[in-house]
Amino acid sequence: MQALLIVDVQNDFCTGGALAVPEGESVVPPLRRLAQQFTALGLPVYATRDWHPADSRHFAANGGTWPVHCVQGTPGARLREDLKLPSSVQIVSKGQSRTDDGYSAVVGEVAGRGTLLEDLKTRGVDKVIVGGLATDYCVKHSVLDLLSHRFEKARELYADHWLGFSEVQLHQFLENAGFKNIDVRVVSREKQSPHFQTVFATGMK
Ligand SMILES: [Zn+2]
Repeated sequence: MQALLIVDVQNDFCTGGALAVPEGESVVPPLRRLAQQFTALGLPVYATRDWHPADSRHFAANGGTWPVHCVQGTPGARLREDLKLPSSVQIVSKGQSRTDDGYSAVVGEVAGRGTLLEDLKTRGVDKVIVGGLATDYCVKHSVLDLLSHRFEKARELYADHWLGFSEVQLHQFLENAGFKNIDVRVVSREKQSPHFQTVFATGMK
């Protein structure tokens, strides 16, 4: 069974947010469509959120790297409303402790169900479609973690190309990390809709 993993499509990572990815909200329409398609087929949809305590060491103010963002319970930490996530969506919270950067969704917590990895295994998921923000941190770490936990069919990585990685660079990165034959598909603004629909269809074989 396959599942959709939507990574960190939160207000703070979109235009006007505290740690905005340039045009990050451009990932919303294709992911919204995918979430609707998965739901219609009865397949699980997960949405992760960075969910930091205000005193997290992840923040530069506390000795870390980043400006304050996605603090638990704040408007910036909310998932984008225009994702229109189905009521059945499973929310995955990550970076919840003071010392946890929360880059990978795999060890994030699904409320009442354990970690994401545990939940994927419980449900018998063997293929994960990943998309979201930002390619170079949380999407990347989540994909690598999934691969290292033997989600061998997780060969498709949806990425948003204006975030600094080209397809070639992503392939290179994955090969350097020891993963071969990963099918990286970079979503461009021009091709979002047909691209996602095409890949979804091939993924259903
Ligand atoms: Zn963070």
